[in-house]
Amino acid sequence: MTGVIEARTSVVLADGRELFYFDDEPGHDRTASDTRSLHRPAGGAELRYDRLTGEPVLVAAHRQTRTVSAAGGDCPLCPSRPGHPTEIPAGDYHVAVFENRFPSLGGPVGGRCEVVSFSSDHDRSFASLSDARWLTIGRAWADRTAALSAVPGVEQVFVFENRGAEVGATLSHPHGQIYAYPYLPPVQAAVLRTARAHRGCLLCSIVEEQVAGPLVVAETEGFVAFVPVAARWPYEVHIVPRGCVPYLTDLDDDDLAELMCLYGDVLRRFEDLFGDGETAYMACWHQPPLNQTDLAHFYVQVFTTRRSADRWKFLASSESGAGAFINDVRPEAAAERLRNVPKPEPR
Ligand SMILES: [Zn+2]
Ligand SMILES: [Zn+2]
Repeated sequence: MTGVIEARTSVVLADGRELFYFDDEPGHDRTASDTRSLHRPAGGAELRYDRLTGEPVLVAAHRQTRTVSAAGGDCPLCPSRPGHPTEIPAGDYHVAVFENRFPSLGGPVGGRCEVVSFSSDHDRSFASLSDARWLTIGRAWADRTAALSAVPGVEQVFVFENRGAEVGATLSHPHGQIYAYPYLPPVQAAVLRTARAHRGCLLCSIVEEQVAGPLVVAETEGFVAFVPVAARWPYEVHIVPRGCVPYLTDLDDDDLAELMCLYGDVLRRFEDLFGDGETAYMACWHQPPLNQTDLAHFYVQVFTTRRSADRWKFLASSESGAGAFINDVRPEAAAERLRNVPKPEPR
């Protein structure tokens, strides 16, 4: 086995799935093997299309039996201990990426679902990790973006995190996921239509025309984090490169480090938005669809459905039925609140 001294190690799990370790620095032995006897669950997802809207729907009934809400003792993302093997064979790790055991994609449908564990520490959150770890996570996402973009049939590589039970996270261990869609999801299809009708780069125009002081939450030389003019969600931030950058793989290490620090800062503001450090959020990395040239600028979307300390936004008839969003918080007020989240003690 090679790769012991590299910062990236790949192993194969007992049921044949791939797992990749990404370390903050080289020199760690991550070659421990999976001691479980494990078989892939039967059944897979099915892709159907809604006749009324033309939109794709994945039917994934096998996911009903997946692991939910594991307590610390039997968490599948904690490192393996003697007598307690988990999804991650090593006794310690920095970042681990592996194929989802209960995937929504893959098999006859095509595409692939991966899980990204941000830390071996069950009780951390993304926002509380070090700058070095944020960069390792960014490198892992870029590595997987490159690999998944090369999978035949994949049309978009979508990196995301659901943090908190209120937004559907079934495990509390700090982790995200990557979906390599074998079709264009509806939001990207809509953005692509708008981009095609626009002369020049849509996201460059948005940054130039709509991102003014009252909407800006935080910024660096190369990136800006702002509340969109017509935000759908009570608190929503987009992080956009100031220059045209299509994919994570197009950033050099310095730019990636700068972006990941701004991203970590935005997530920290969301977590602390109501003073309890527990605001659930969703974070979505919208990389352009592959094999097209009309949309060549990625953006990151972070949002929460929490609209006050004790109230959550529910997607009721207007939103769920008509697709017509009503936002109870003025975007300029949301930006001010996010700007004013107190800075934490130095980590
Ligand atoms: Zn855990
Ligand atoms: Zn652009």
